[in-house]
Amino acid sequence: MKHIVLFRNDLRFDQQPALAAAIAAKQPQDELLFLFHLNPEQFAVGTARHDYFFKTVEWFKQECRKIAPLHFIVGTVEEAFQELITEIGNDISFYFNRQMSGFGLKRDEQLIALLEKNTIPYQQFLDRHLHSVYDVMKPDGSPYKVFTPYFRQWVTLEKPGYHRLKIQFITAEKAQLTCFKKGEKVFNELVTELKPSYWDDTIGLEAARKQMVTFLKNGLENYDTARDIPSIEGTSRLSPYLKVGVLSIVEVFHAAQSTEARGQATYIKELAWRDFYQMIACYHPDEKNNEIMPKYRAIEWEKNPTGFKAWSVGETGFPIVDAAMKQLNCTGWMHNRLRMIVASFLVKDLGIDWREGERYFSERLIDYDAASNIGGWQWAASTGVDAVPYFRIFNPTVQSERFDAQGDFIREWIPELVDVASKHIHEPHKYNISYIIPIVDHAKARLAAIERFKKLD
Ligand code: FAD
Repeated sequence: MKHIVLFRNDLRFDQQPALAAAIAAKQPQDELLFLFHLNPEQFAVGTARHDYFFKTVEWFKQECRKIAPLHFIVGTVEEAFQELITEIGNDISFYFNRQMSGFGLKRDEQLIALLEKNTIPYQQFLDRHLHSVYDVMKPDGSPYKVFTPYFRQWVTLEKPGYHRLKIQFITAEKAQLTCFKKGEKVFNELVTELKPSYWDDTIGLEAARKQMVTFLKNGLENYDTARDIPSIEGTSRLSPYLKVGVLSIVEVFHAAQSTEARGQATYIKELAWRDFYQMIACYHPDEKNNEIMPKYRAIEWEKNPTGFKAWSVGETGFPIVDAAMKQLNCTGWMHNRLRMIVASFLVKDLGIDWREGERYFSERLIDYDAASNIGGWQWAASTGVDAVPYFRIFNPTVQSERFDAQGDFIREWIPELVDVASKHIHEPHKYNISYIIPIVDHAKARLAAIERFKKLD
């Protein structure tokens, strides 16, 4: 019997339910086989997340040699798995961690249908979140739409235990199938096309754990206040590792919980937002295309390609917005406070459809997670569940003064403002400082945004 562990965005050995189950089931005469499905439908060539993910897969492929080689198959679900089954035979069993929303949910449904058609046994597990989409429900069994009561229940529920894998054996490289050779070739070609990036030195588990331990030691204590200041490392910056599954959310949760740091409760609450948004994504499968609140589906967004371009390259004339977009474009990551500011600016100040911003983030973020990103954008656009009310509009200058009071973050990303005094840096044009003239008058834009929503209320 061959026990096939299918890896996806769970590229690790510890706290890996599918892997643990396969190892537990394996008899001495059995084979353990690691598999990665290269699904062209999922490739996002040219995006930061594509490169980051496959660099991590390449790292993981090397790691797998400690236990069993990682094999690749290529094609749609139907093509790739049917080819494998035809070649390898029926004496196999599959183990995988499944997705509960978005593309991954549909893909897993296709896979399960195919396995059942071929009468291949499989075991599926929940792995990406602390609680599944069904764990936290209202007393009447319906899903929550508001975070606070959801969290009240979430926090009381027992969390999964954390298990490190004890590697006891190494299997010989046995399987040499044609479909694996084909997959390997495609993977090798794909890897050669990945571009160098800001994160190249921090791929993999060692860097992830180092980042986590450093944050817990130095950052968690003051997380409550420091997490809103983009110029300092006040947040964990673990989102890329959680995205590709190098670190398990369960490991992060237990590590945070085992400290006595002051910021612990706030941090754990942020982890709950991640679960909340995946639950929302599951119950609103069309949320990528449509406003969750039906009454706002008729909003007339501005057609403003010039404004969108200025926003995307960081040339709006609002230094905090520009610095944030430069951080995103350069590093593939953006601080949470800044994600809120730039999203609000695009939607409320420029009146541009939130979907355009969501798409731009999906191309630039290395931690892109559809549920969290759409959740964040629909929050900022006031169209989602538990979203910011449409009349409470961020003033980018006030946000800048509050969260980058000394202008340190702005100076880091906008060299032409490096010598500008803190009191002038948030609105340079007002002080005749040479910088881009703001592309929009915030006061007027605010009124227009309120009007846009009000007529549908
Ligand atoms: P920390 O403050 O250290 O938080 C710890 C972890 O909690 C994060 O790694 C993340 O997994 C989770 N988390 C924190 N805040 C949120 C939140 N508001 N929603 C969901 N999970 C959260 N997060 C993504 O992981 N991927 C995205 O594509 C994404 N897009 C966003 C788009 C917008 C418009 C907004 C407003 C937020 C978005 N977020 C997204 C949420 C949040 O900005 C990031 O998770 C956070 O900035 C990651 O940095 P960190 O790991 O240092 O966070």
